[in-house]
Amino acid sequence: MESKVSNLPSPSVRKISQNTSDAIVVGAGIIGLAAAYALLDAGNSVRIVEQFSPGAGQSTRTGGGIRVAHGSEVNAQLTQLSLPTWLNFEKQFDIDPHYQETGHLFLSSKNTKSLATQANLLNSLGAHCAVLSNEELCMRWPSLGSTDFEVGNYCKTGGYLNHHRVVAGFVQKVQAGGAHFEFNTRVEGILQDDGRVTGVRTSAGLFTGETVVNAAGPNAGVISLLAGLRIPFVSRRHELLILEQTAQVPESVPWLIDIDHQVHMRPDGSGRALVGGFLGQNDPTNPDRYDKSVSKNWSTAVRAQAAQSFHLTRPDSAVLRGWAGLYPGTVDYLPVLERSIPGLVTAAGFSGTGLMHAPAVGQIVADLVRDGNTSAVDISPLASTRFDGEQKPSDSTGF
Ligand SMILES: Cc1cc2nc3c(=O)[nH]c(=O)nc-3n(C[C@H](O)[C@H](O)[C@H](O)COP(=O)(O)OP(=O)(O)OC[C@H]3O[C@@H](n4cnc5c(N)ncnc54)[C@H](O)[C@@H]3O)c2cc1C
Repeated sequence: MESKVSNLPSPSVRKISQNTSDAIVVGAGIIGLAAAYALLDAGNSVRIVEQFSPGAGQSTRTGGGIRVAHGSEVNAQLTQLSLPTWLNFEKQFDIDPHYQETGHLFLSSKNTKSLATQANLLNSLGAHCAVLSNEELCMRWPSLGSTDFEVGNYCKTGGYLNHHRVVAGFVQKVQAGGAHFEFNTRVEGILQDDGRVTGVRTSAGLFTGETVVNAAGPNAGVISLLAGLRIPFVSRRHELLILEQTAQVPESVPWLIDIDHQVHMRPDGSGRALVGGFLGQNDPTNPDRYDKSVSKNWSTAVRAQAAQSFHLTRPDSAVLRGWAGLYPGTVDYLPVLERSIPGLVTAAGFSGTGLMHAPAVGQIVADLVRDGNTSAVDISPLASTRFDGEQKPSDSTGF
């Protein structure tokens, strides 16, 4: 599927009046930037209101992962729609995102049934996932040594890229397309008239627009509440480590994901490895107050588990650096993507998939602004009305 987003015309095409625009995007993370990009491409004037600076939130705290394998159909489709942008990013955005196509491998001994379901889903969508036995795993990646995994789902498409370069690419294009950035400006209220959202009240004054897009990441719940909506957004703290060259992880090894122990690792260039995982801890976190550094206990535990699961690093592999951030999610781990009320589109709660899905989400936001719906992907599972009834986790792979 080809992304509809194309090259933007010159800035002079889109004049923005001082306080009014067709669309106001709240948040200049990867979701807000991709939405702004697609909105400009569809002929809208766009204002982006960001409390800090572009990419200052979670979008530059990621592992850079792009993967086709997911536990839900809608997530798998969002990746399919986004892939052409990642594969052609340099051509489209004039910045090399340093995309490395490692592929990815979900591994399990205890949850083989859920991997079988995942493989059927992916193959039904044409995403080509190979189901490998323990013997095949050991033959294909001898460097993994003799693993205990009974089964592995291997997708050779996907890998990782540099999120700073991706954010820079979007910012550059959005600026060139004539979007008006309001940096260091905080949205503090939502303007409404007769049940329709008409703009935002900010620390720098009022801005009006036909549509407001809530792309506030972990703070999306606050913006929803300002509009009178109660959507159960939940942020979960997540940590990552880069292990030093001594680990000697070969580039030929794919991104490895052990779903039994909730740990993952991938090569990170020059023999380094990136290691992460919840390790079963997945508690809701206050987005305004969380520790951005890696905890000592988690660092010890994740290195021990990665060594045990993948046999490529050691429990005492040296740590080059590490950081923590938030998966900006919801109670069921799926995002909310909808026109919530007239004049308000919500695009938030992307958990561990916001970077990889941003191009598709941008395109869908532009459709929602124009038509109130989209034909790109069936996004009915992402409507916030799903929280009205009993809640069941819908994509709980945790990654
Ligand atoms: C450790 C870690 C690893 C991850 N790995 C991956 C990965 O490999 N692949 C992947 O696809 N995803 C990954 N993610 C998830 C990814 O980071 C998020 O899904 C994505 O960044 C969400 O983008 P966003 O634009 O919604 O949020 P953000 O990037 O947080 O952007 C929201 C923006 O809104 C602004 N804002 C908030 N409130 C207001 C307000 N009131 N007024 C004005 N501005 C406001 C914020 O300042 C922020 O800049 C990872 C996350 C973490 C923490």
